[in-house]
Amino acid sequence: MDSFQNYIDGQWVSARSGHTFTNHNPASGAALGRFPDSSVEDVAAAADAANRALPSWRATPAPQRAEILYRVAAMMRERKDDLARALTTEMGKVLKEAAGDVQEGIDMTLYMAGEGRRQFGFTTPSELPNKWAMAVRQPKGVIGAITPWNFPMAIPTWKLMPALISGNTAVFKPSQYAPQTAWHLTRLFEEAGLPPGVLNVVFGDGPDTGKAVVEHPLISFVSFTGSNAVGTEVARRCAELGKGVALEMGGKNAIIVLDDADVSLALDGVIWSAFGTSGQRCTAASRLIVQRGVLDEFQTRLVERTEKLRLGPGLDPNTDVGPVINPAQLDKIAAYIPIGQAEGARVATGGRRPPATDLTGGYYFEPTVLIDARPEMRVAREEIFGPVTSVIRAGDLDEAITINNGVPYGLSSSIFTRDIDKAFRAIDGITTGIVYVNAGTIGAEVHLPFGGTRGTGNGHREAGQAALDTYTEWKSIYIDYSGRLQRAQIDTAS
Ligand code: NAD
Repeated sequence: MDSFQNYIDGQWVSARSGHTFTNHNPASGAALGRFPDSSVEDVAAAADAANRALPSWRATPAPQRAEILYRVAAMMRERKDDLARALTTEMGKVLKEAAGDVQEGIDMTLYMAGEGRRQFGFTTPSELPNKWAMAVRQPKGVIGAITPWNFPMAIPTWKLMPALISGNTAVFKPSQYAPQTAWHLTRLFEEAGLPPGVLNVVFGDGPDTGKAVVEHPLISFVSFTGSNAVGTEVARRCAELGKGVALEMGGKNAIIVLDDADVSLALDGVIWSAFGTSGQRCTAASRLIVQRGVLDEFQTRLVERTEKLRLGPGLDPNTDVGPVINPAQLDKIAAYIPIGQAEGARVATGGRRPPATDLTGGYYFEPTVLIDARPEMRVAREEIFGPVTSVIRAGDLDEAITINNGVPYGLSSSIFTRDIDKAFRAIDGITTGIVYVNAGTIGAEVHLPFGGTRGTGNGHREAGQAALDTYTEWKSIYIDYSGRLQRAQIDTAS
């Protein structure tokens, strides 16, 4: 088994305690590699290094910072296939989706490298004569980046690229379930010539390593993506410690299918959104809100399509749906089936671990469709994060929008309709952070803001220009060249 190390101050180092943990291949359960199980001391060393590197990185012109990002992107492109295979091996998603995960990392890196020559502020006329007013962006300082396992390449780049291009330094704590992809990304930064200390990576679990990142006094801002349970705790600690925090958490995303929809197209969108990445996307479609008139046809065809999906290892080119991440997640998904049945939902297909012996050892769950679900059921309100989707009946567009908006989360929604008026009414009435028309709930592009309302987040957005707001502070500057004291609001009073 290979052994991996933390990256602190430009050096590869073991955890000070010498403790390690192991990542596993979800397709087989096989152990893959040994990683440092980092403690408070390791995180302190990383935060110190990031803090020491901050003045010179902040003073490095942004176009020069960008050159390093361009080099990272070029290497990611060259090694895309190898990176995707490594990602599938430790995280389980099918190879073509792993390649998409890496591609999203490339796209984000190039986008943010471009921001190196677009760190625009603005000027505005002062309310007083002979006085200049302007505003510029400044880095926040040392950023703590805590990431989940489901997009082990894309999500770290969503955080690290805007943070670094803006002149911040970082302590990065990737998920303990997908550390190897984070290690590969770190190697790319090292090869690209990133100065020591600008990016520091500490491997480990949440309660020890993640908590230490949240609590270290030199880390002034925490960017967290993960579950609501953990994100809420992270936010509470950040509030107590007076730190800024950006939260991207769970989803309970819905696809609305109206009577006038192209049902074949809607089914394509549903299959991709509900069962892609085995339903383990924050934007996965775990609710299907279907109008009465098309419900029977839709359900029949959905079950037929779902039963054709091939479950298997992500590296097998014939696989449509890979394993889920770990045994705990498998148990959680399985437990939701009787919960739904007890509330009156019925399993139309799936609902169990596959009996096939060649999948023994891996963490597989059959793609599952629950029917007769109602909006108030737990399976229709809580994030399951697996290949399970629930069909809910709606009478009309208004009822569908009400059901769509009536969950504690607010990430992504979609509507299938051929009626342009209804599409625009839905765009207007849906209150999630992302809305798709005639496409599934997944497929975000890096140059648009990404994030959710309600319980999904705390108002920050990742990606696009919006990410720069997360990783910079505005500084307003007034330059008075009148030669006398001019008092705003007082000398201008009419
Ligand atoms: P998780 O909350 O279990 O873990 C996320 C990260 O937090 C991991 O690195 C973990 O080690 C760390 N962590 C755990 N406890 C911690 C603590 N006490 N203090 C600090 N850090 C701690 O989530 P997960 O299982 O890795 O990811 C799945 C979740 O992520 C789902 O809920 C999914 O919806 C969400 N997600 C959201 C988005 C989004 O953009 N909204 C994107 C992807 C995933």
